[in-house]
Amino acid sequence: MTPPDFVVDNVDKSPITTRFAPSPTGLLHRGHALSALLAWQRARQSGGRFILRIEDIDTTRCRPEFEAAIMADLTWLGLDWDEPVWRQSKRGAVYRAALDQLVAMGVAYPCFCTRADIAAAASAPHGSDGPLYPGTCRHLEPEERARRLASEAAAWRLDVAAALAMTGPLQWHDAWAGPQQADPAAQGDFVVARRDIGTAYTLAVVVDDAAQGVTDVVRGVDLFEATHGQRLLQALLGLAVPQYHHHPLVLGSDGRRLAKRDAGETLAALRANGADPAELCAALLAQSPTC
Ligand code: GLU
Repeated sequence: MTPPDFVVDNVDKSPITTRFAPSPTGLLHRGHALSALLAWQRARQSGGRFILRIEDIDTTRCRPEFEAAIMADLTWLGLDWDEPVWRQSKRGAVYRAALDQLVAMGVAYPCFCTRADIAAAASAPHGSDGPLYPGTCRHLEPEERARRLASEAAAWRLDVAAALAMTGPLQWHDAWAGPQQADPAAQGDFVVARRDIGTAYTLAVVVDDAAQGVTDVVRGVDLFEATHGQRLLQALLGLAVPQYHHHPLVLGSDGRRLAKRDAGETLAALRANGADPAELCAALLAQSPTC
C-alpha cells in the first residue's frame, strides 16, 4: 500500500518494530483503528516491522469470531502485518516462568482476597482502577501462606515497595508526554497473575513486547498509567524498555470515550454502512496531532 501523505517528519528512520495488540473480547472501534494506523505508519515509514498480537489470555471473555473480525477490520483499513501472529493463549508457560522469577526474587506474593474483601477494606485509598489493594496477604505468615496455597487458588501480586527497593527509581519516555518518572506505587500491589487464568495483562504484555523486539509501543492514553507498573516489571525481569506513544483517545459523537460495547461505533458497522476506509484513516489522523 502506498504510504499516505500525512508523513510524520520527526520519526527516527531506523527500522523499528511496533505492534497492535488487541484483546478479542469485542469488535474494534475507531480508537483501535487509530492505534493500529499510527503503529503501522511508524513501522512502515522506518522500513521496520508491524506486528499483530492477539491478547487472548482472558479465556473467559475472548472469542474466535472477534479475532477474525480484527483481521478483517485491519485489512479493510489497508493495514498489513508481519507474520507470525502471536496468540498469548499459547504462551502460558512463558508467563509462568516470568512469574516464577518474580517469586524467586521475593517480590511477588499469593493473594487470596476476593474483590469483595478488597472493597470491604473501606479505608483503602483509591487508584485509577478502584480501591488500591490494602496489602492484606502481603502480611501473611509463611506457614499460613503455604497452608492456604495448598488448598486455595490464589492470584499473585507484586510487592511494589520491595520491588522498587530492588530497582531504585525508574524512568520511561513517552513521545507525547515527554520523560516520565515511573510511579508504580500509585497502582498499589498490582496483580501479575490472576487466580482464574494464571497470568495478567501487565505481565504478559511486557514479556511479549520484549520477546518480539518491540521498540515502540503505540496505544491509547487510557493505558498511560499502566505503563508505570510495566516499567517496574521490565526492570525486575531485565527486559528492554520500548519508547511509548500514548495517543489521545478518539471520542464518540456524544463526546464520550468509545467502548467495544457501542455497537454503532464499531469498524464492522462503519464497513457495513459503506464507509470509505481511506477517508476514515485520514479523518482519524487529522484529529490526532503527530509526535
Ligand atoms: N490488549 C490490550 C487491549 O486490548 C492492549 C494492550 C497494549 O496495547 O498494551 O486493551
